[in-house]
Amino acid sequence: MIIDCHGHYTTAPAGLQAFRQGQIAGLADATLPSPLAPRVSDDEIRASLEGAQLKFSRERGTDLTIFSPRASAMAHHIGTQTTSIAWARACNDLIARVCALYPRNFAGVAQLPQSPGADLGASIAELERCVNELGFVGINLNPDPSGGHWTSAPLTDRFWYPLYEKMVEFDLPAMVHVSSSCNANFHATGAHYLNADTTAFMQFITSDLFRDFPTLRFVIPHGGGAVPYHWGRYRGLAQDLGRPTLEHGLLGNVFFDTCVYHRPGIALLLDVVPIDNILFGSEMVGAVRGIDPRTGHHYDDTKRYIDALGLDDDTRAKIFERNALRVYPRLAAVAGLAVAT
Ligand SMILES: [Zn+2]
Repeated sequence: MIIDCHGHYTTAPAGLQAFRQGQIAGLADATLPSPLAPRVSDDEIRASLEGAQLKFSRERGTDLTIFSPRASAMAHHIGTQTTSIAWARACNDLIARVCALYPRNFAGVAQLPQSPGADLGASIAELERCVNELGFVGINLNPDPSGGHWTSAPLTDRFWYPLYEKMVEFDLPAMVHVSSSCNANFHATGAHYLNADTTAFMQFITSDLFRDFPTLRFVIPHGGGAVPYHWGRYRGLAQDLGRPTLEHGLLGNVFFDTCVYHRPGIALLLDVVPIDNILFGSEMVGAVRGIDPRTGHHYDDTKRYIDALGLDDDTRAKIFERNALRVYPRLAAVAGLAVAT
């Protein structure tokens, strides 16, 4: 079993975007009626996946994708809390339909209805709905709902604690995942995403968050942003700041995916980060869709880079399966898997 911990529904049928456009039009003209629920047929869902995520998954030899709505489209900065609630529900309901149509291929992760300045009540309610009613196994948590202006409290602030209490109660991990950027300085996937990954890790180093929540778990995507490359800097900063070592302070709680789009980067990740903290991920189909002319293969075919490292069976099993089952404990039940941690 090869589990990809990081996939988004980037190919969702046009009915979903029509709903969003209706929402956005309504923000500009309050006289417009609220958009109707997205009109998407099962056949449209199948067609949207068969030629993309499922095709690549079969070609690359992966089995199950932990699947969430398109991250760049969360756009929590657009509209109000009410806007985000309706949008998150529409997106999550569609993910649930994908999982129902392809239960062996996809497990759901929720988009939260975050909104700048809003409390987390609506996000907690949507988390509960997605777990209890839709069978989701995780959430995407946006540390910057402002879309590149960083107006929220750090992830280690008590502002977030009500959500963390619910995550602990449900034994549910969060992927730290920003959305699109409305700050022209930060390209979304090329800078904003990686900035957020790096920022979250440094926030975790400087706080006692995991003393307060010993079982809280985060996946930092995109290979951890700048973190693995600068591992020595973070070890040294923790030391200078009188913080616990990374191993004792946060590696029981913080995990990295393998969404690094070249082999040397994957090799570095595996060299510096403990294997128990690495989950296979590709973010396919997503951030970088092209084919590398040097290799002839898609940049986001991250399994190929891992395969090329000649890892032993135990290491491969951890990266491809066992770590994901440990970090996402609800996954085993949803996917009908035996827990093999
Ligand atoms: Zn992503």
